[in-house]
Amino acid sequence: VNQNPGEVEFHQAVKEVLDSLKLVISANEENYRKMGLLERIVEPERIISFRVPWVDDNGNVQVNKGFRVQFNSAIGPYKGGLRLHPSVNQGILKFLGFEQTFKNSLTGLPIGGGKGGSNFDPKGKSDREVMAFCQSFMTELSKYIGADQDVPAGDIGVGAREIGFLYGQYKRMTGLYEGVLTGKGLNYGGSLVRTQATGYGLVYILDEMLKHNGKDLNGKKVVISGSGNVAIYAAEKAQQLGAIVISLSDSAGYIYDESGIQLDLVKEIKEVRRGRIKEYADVVKTAVFTEGKGIWSIPCDIALPCATQNELDIDDAKELKKNGCFAVAEGANMPSTRGATDYFLENGIYFMPGKAANAGGVATSALEMSQNSQRLSWTFEEVDEKLHDIMVNIYAKAADAADRYGVSGNYVAGANIAGFEKVVDAMMAQGIV
Ligand code: NDP
Repeated sequence: VNQNPGEVEFHQAVKEVLDSLKLVISANEENYRKMGLLERIVEPERIISFRVPWVDDNGNVQVNKGFRVQFNSAIGPYKGGLRLHPSVNQGILKFLGFEQTFKNSLTGLPIGGGKGGSNFDPKGKSDREVMAFCQSFMTELSKYIGADQDVPAGDIGVGAREIGFLYGQYKRMTGLYEGVLTGKGLNYGGSLVRTQATGYGLVYILDEMLKHNGKDLNGKKVVISGSGNVAIYAAEKAQQLGAIVISLSDSAGYIYDESGIQLDLVKEIKEVRRGRIKEYADVVKTAVFTEGKGIWSIPCDIALPCATQNELDIDDAKELKKNGCFAVAEGANMPSTRGATDYFLENGIYFMPGKAANAGGVATSALEMSQNSQRLSWTFEEVDEKLHDIMVNIYAKAADAADRYGVSGNYVAGANIAGFEKVVDAMMAQGIV
């Protein structure tokens, strides 16, 4: 903590992982100590931090902070998204890069962990301003990334538009037409299913967890926070599997529609108009918009937090349980506080942590990298089937690791252990680097 002052989210993520690895660590303590394994695994290989100057529509110069955290390359090139949000700082990106290392390991694909971004806020900016920012950001970032080195993707605030601007500038700077970013448009190297992947993957693994515990999604009431990329496609897949999605949110508040959210309208508001979720309730008479954070007070069977870190605390967890919620799967990264996570685990709620539950996005990004290397495009069905298999496998790995260490049903420990094992084996094999 003294070495990394003020990085609260990073401390939280490291503590959770190390706590759930206690059994593994004590069984291998001498060897890990000798190899400095734990000291190395919590330290990013490299953090690049830079100035991002750009000119706004009034002709004024704006300056943002840019970062790329290259956390761990033991099992493959650094891979992880870029986040554009005013809350971004080095500690948040370190937490995300640390989590990403284990998540990427769980996918079974050869990708290391990284994360990056900026405190730039794309909200309310013109297309030209977003392009100016992206070009400046990439001018510096391009020196440190590459198809076999570090492959960034989208995250909060970075969708198809931003990836396009970033890719154009990378190509211009380097002269390379290579798979250096994922989440690209379909006509310049993108993969089918990437847009849907995190949300679909979340519901595939949720479905798998429910099946193994004698439940299913059919007819279940589902509350989803956020109304961005992950939330929208989690809602779509949940509806396809027979669930009724009754709520979505953004940072201003939440909508409740007991007759089931009309997703076509949500997509029109969020993806076409770049509007706010409140606008849904302006159109749909059965829907109500409520300002503020109260989304977890809505009675439901299943909760899918898909907005941001620490959005669901212990009081929310208690409220969910009281109202009959029996399963939670995290679409966002670390949306549940430690208190909430422990409460779920101790109170019989089936709980799938983000590291496992939202890995479908990065897994499909790795499939995009494979297609770019082969100069091929797979069909929607091919990619979707691979995504489904990967999520089923992640469930099996987390469940198996939990069983092996005598904590059956604790998918937090299971995911951490399974993700850790592969990275550690590779780090041990590669010596002190
Ligand atoms: P988007 O930018 O598409 O959507 C984010 C949503 O979360 C918006 O509705 C946003 O509301 C809300 N939100 C963001 N920050 C806050 C906040 N501080 N308080 C309340 N609401 C907030 O992002 P994604 O859907 O891509 O990402 C959502 C989560 O999923 C993140 O944790 C991300 O790291 C994680 N994730 C995403 C993956 C992907 O493939 N996209 C892959 C794996 C994980 P508003 O518009 O008001 O800010």
